[in-house]
Amino acid sequence: MNKFDPATAIQRLDGRDANRGVNPAICDSATFTFPEAHLMTETFHGETEGYFLYSRHWNPSNLALCQALAAMEGTESAWVTGSGLAAITTALLHEVKSGDHILSSMTTYGGTFAFMNNWLKKFGVETTFVNFQDLDAVKKAIRPNTKVLYTETMNNPLLRMANIPELAKMAHAAGAKLIVDNTFTPMIFSPCRLGADVTVYSMTKFVNGKNDCVAGAICGSNEYINGLIDVNNGTAMLLGPVLDPMRSSSILKNVHTLHIRMQQHSKNAMYLATRFKEVGFKYNYPGLPEHPDYQLTCSMMNEGYGFGGMISIDMGTADKASKIMEIMQKKGVGYLAVSLGYFKTLFSNSGKSTSSEVPEDIQKEMGMSEGLIRFSVGLDNDIEATFQLIKESVEECNR
Ligand code: PLP
Repeated sequence: MNKFDPATAIQRLDGRDANRGVNPAICDSATFTFPEAHLMTETFHGETEGYFLYSRHWNPSNLALCQALAAMEGTESAWVTGSGLAAITTALLHEVKSGDHILSSMTTYGGTFAFMNNWLKKFGVETTFVNFQDLDAVKKAIRPNTKVLYTETMNNPLLRMANIPELAKMAHAAGAKLIVDNTFTPMIFSPCRLGADVTVYSMTKFVNGKNDCVAGAICGSNEYINGLIDVNNGTAMLLGPVLDPMRSSSILKNVHTLHIRMQQHSKNAMYLATRFKEVGFKYNYPGLPEHPDYQLTCSMMNEGYGFGGMISIDMGTADKASKIMEIMQKKGVGYLAVSLGYFKTLFSNSGKSTSSEVPEDIQKEMGMSEGLIRFSVGLDNDIEATFQLIKESVEECNR
């Protein structure tokens, strides 16, 4: 376990604005003035500090959020985007050109899979998908033109863990970058501190935690982020997926409660996993020792945030999963909805929703059952009562 504490790193930042407001003022400007003309030219070339040019590039409200995210990740810098997929596609596009190769974990969020498998192909970038739990297979699949190894820390929806230190070594030995999506597990893991080059987030999920927006983030070194926003060649600057500063400002306030939320999500998911085990449900949760990646998880995690709020149960068939989810929603367990990291419990059948872009044969190869219900466990105060409702829902469906 690591002693790094992302929450304390954020709390040590001085977030006051010029008027000593405790929250940084919202900067509602697309463009910025310069007191002297030469400063504008120098800012264009990235040669000034403390000047802003244009909000597609940088904005003070975005900067305040990025400073908090960089502190949380232990990276030098960060940049925020209008969605998680924008963060992922920008980070990937920045590394590849036609003729290059990406090596990706077979199990990823469906949109990421579709982007690599379908969309990038049109531009001559090939992706191969392998089981990232099999490090020998990963090593064998690296090619001379491999530019990126891509994985989620805890993968979607099977909750298997990526061995980030080993994957980073392999990527670097091949002259490639390791890009990690840490959407499921903010604060629990700090991928860049474990060797990854870039960490991406869908902040739509736990980081913001309110389900009131879509947003994303890219975290990495100063050199990397400055490259992304370079006016001539920066993928972020030229594709323009920047997050609106008003939204940055609201997300920043939610980041300050993220540690408390993660602790409660983890506590509740651990409780449910323990109870699912007792009653004999087929479940996946990396926080119990029988999970195949339990030891790896413990070796990579930051102390004090638990094992995360994601858990899945396998109900065997898609029909049964659908019935149980409908009953659970009626009983008030939470909502039948995609997405995660909300204060209420959300559940969905992955094969029919967030992983539906992944062809069925690959779903099978990943080990994903058609009856898999993925839960994003909420901040419930009485989690035993929630467990009872889930159990009653399964019993009602079986009757
Ligand atoms: N990464 C993961 C692991 C996700 O689950 C999702 C969305 O469900 C995304 C990325 C995409 O994020 P967004 O919906 O914010 O674009």
